[in-house]
Amino acid sequence: MSEFSWNTRRKSLNNLANTEFDVLVIGGGITGSGIALDAADRGLSVALIEKRDFASGTSSRSTKLIHGGLRYLEHFDFSLVREALQERAILSRIAPHLVETFPFVIPVYRKLQQNYDHPLKMRAGLLLYDLLAGGDRVNRHRRLSAEEALKLAPQLDSEGLRGALLYYDALTDDSRLVIEVIKTACSRGATISNYTRLLGFTKSVDGMISGARLRDEFTGQSFVARSKVLINATGVWVEDIIRLDESGEAQLSKRVRPSKGVHLTVSADRLRVSSAWLIPSLKNHRFYFVVPWKGKVNVGTTDTDYIGDKDSPRAERAEAEEILAAINQYFPAARLKPSDVISSWAGLRPLITDQRAVKTSEISRKEELSETADGLISISGGKLTTYRRMARSAMDLAAARLSKRYGIKSSVSRTEDLTISGGAMKREELKRAVLRLIDTEKLSPQSAEHLVFSYGSNYRHLIELMREDDNLRKPLVEGSPELSAEIVYAARHEMALTLSDALIRRTRLAVLAGEGSVECAVEAAALMARELGWDNEEIKRQIENFISEFKKEYESPFTAEARSTQRQHREKKE
Ligand code: FAD
Repeated sequence: MSEFSWNTRRKSLNNLANTEFDVLVIGGGITGSGIALDAADRGLSVALIEKRDFASGTSSRSTKLIHGGLRYLEHFDFSLVREALQERAILSRIAPHLVETFPFVIPVYRKLQQNYDHPLKMRAGLLLYDLLAGGDRVNRHRRLSAEEALKLAPQLDSEGLRGALLYYDALTDDSRLVIEVIKTACSRGATISNYTRLLGFTKSVDGMISGARLRDEFTGQSFVARSKVLINATGVWVEDIIRLDESGEAQLSKRVRPSKGVHLTVSADRLRVSSAWLIPSLKNHRFYFVVPWKGKVNVGTTDTDYIGDKDSPRAERAEAEEILAAINQYFPAARLKPSDVISSWAGLRPLITDQRAVKTSEISRKEELSETADGLISISGGKLTTYRRMARSAMDLAAARLSKRYGIKSSVSRTEDLTISGGAMKREELKRAVLRLIDTEKLSPQSAEHLVFSYGSNYRHLIELMREDDNLRKPLVEGSPELSAEIVYAARHEMALTLSDALIRRTRLAVLAGEGSVECAVEAAALMARELGWDNEEIKRQIENFISEFKKEYESPFTAEARSTQRQHREKKE
């Protein structure tokens, strides 16, 4: 297994300072990662830089669906839905470990106002969804009786329930998808560096952009990287990057309108669902997803205009209350309380529009590809699901520029058939691997399943680590499936450079264990310290930084408030 660690990053920084690349990609979310992979696979020399950690922007904060987007049919966005459904099929093939076909259910009540829309309209929408998916016979939508629906969600409101509509989409782990795409790009020769920020551009005598001023965020050192083409894939930051160029502002035609979406994670014992559900919002014509995910349940999301710090959006109490109220209305027997919320998180959709008047939910999710007069290519908008197609479009444009300006020829995009890291085994083979691991390695069924479906065929490398050191079999959080070996693997093979990288984005412990992730921070930091050579002072700093990031971005707003009330009481007493 090849190394992808701080040592790889050191070499990458050296390469960045001393080589001229064909393509430099700015932004290590799913879009930038997809572009780096597409470029490397075309045989071009490519580098990718990310100012924080990979997927630290929107790409770790989505609903985690690989889907066509049923709701977009209402806006007659048929081509968007069809393309996304085609991508769903491609991703199921090239990254089977990370794309799980899953049943989604919409309840149908006698009272029309309890439904998202008229049942006949919803049925017609699902018929169209099946057609756009290309007539997959196995996973066609169907009607469920009220009894069948209640079997999938025993806490669902049964009063006036006529039945439900069941269809299929897919679940993923967004930040693991990003890291697997990045690892694949690296294995094809891409130069990759996280914690490397773009500060500005350099230009050649003809006024075209010829490179970038970058800063290593760990040392503060800045330097120039040279590249024939630069691609800006910075999501909600895309305009900020264009403005770094003095002529950028004048060239902005459409605008990014960040739209905030909040999710809560709750325990699967408290909200008992064995399929995903679509529940109408009590406030507007939207629905919330209720999605079983890695042994917990994610619920969300909201969709509201956002102005504020784009680096650290967080769920506010009112937003969390709104989601809980909707869930409790449709699942009254669950009686979810604020204390049932394990964690919360917020993401910013990079919506692109030239209008200010419409609601964010009405803006198309289609991507926008543009180029400034001095040659900066920018791509933003779109969806996690359509990243591969977006990457291909951006690279088609970049390849045309390389060919015209420099005579550099490259092959067409071949990522449709390119297996992503970990994707070498089909889901049936992975299921058999789970049984083998339970038997031969004596792993708990939960840990075996977690390892195999998080890392795909790379699970073997984690098993090797555990065979070398028995201590690495230990769960990181009591009762959770994540194992100590994952922290070592993250540092050695997934360029995790901080404790937050390992606990938030390589494993998803901050989301899944909430406060539990804070409790395991000391142990996890000790494991990383061994890999990265941290001394005691650095260990302390890493733990403090992780706790601060957790509190700012993942802690339930109810916990934060309860803690502040307790503190005020204590201070009054004193
Ligand atoms: P990002 O992931 O934000 O990446 C941009 C990167 O650029 C960031 O990591 C940032 O740090 C970096 N950057 C910024 N400035 C600089 C700089 N100066 N130098 C270097 N790097 C820089 N899509 C789906 O398909 N399915 C879903 O279920 C789904 N759910 C969603 C739910 C919510 C709440 C939201 C907000 C979005 C959802 N989406 C979903 C959409 C999807 O998540 C996004 O379209 C996608 O993640 C955007 O990826 P990106 O790479 O373009 O942006």
